[in-house]
Amino acid sequence: MDIRIGNGYDVHAIAPGLTMWLGGVQIPSENGFVAHSDGDVAIHALCDALLGCLALGDIGHLFPDTSDEWKGVDSKILLRKVVDIVHEKGYKVGNVDITIALQRPKLAPHIDRMRETLAPILGVTVDRVSVKATTTEKLGFVGRAEGCEVWASAIILKD
Ligand code: MG
Repeated sequence: MDIRIGNGYDVHAIAPGLTMWLGGVQIPSENGFVAHSDGDVAIHALCDALLGCLALGDIGHLFPDTSDEWKGVDSKILLRKVVDIVHEKGYKVGNVDITIALQRPKLAPHIDRMRETLAPILGVTVDRVSVKATTTEKLGFVGRAEGCEVWASAIILKD
């Protein structure tokens, strides 16, 4: 069994009047994330974790923010492309674990929908997709509601 581990990290600034996407789902909020894509910072960190497993750089390298092709793109499309790469290399996803730091809104009501959205894209059952959310107790840029910070870990496997 060939087992590889990867981690990913991403931050996006918060701004009013944008649609908030996290973990592939729309979060009811008057704010969203500033980005070239749809700003789904959780999927971006997850993509980087999967690419990290394969030592293939990061999503900024794969999907440059200078390219019109990826302007406003649904990040689930980017994740599908990254999972395709994992499969092309002969691996399957083992499990993933995502931690989202956001001051508001509260994400607890949306966590299971994120897991159910991400699992089929990753080709795994929902029990292999962990999504956790925390505030930072009003400390730092997350606590001031200036941005959202996400860490992700992934394991991929080849028999
Ligand atoms: Mg990003």
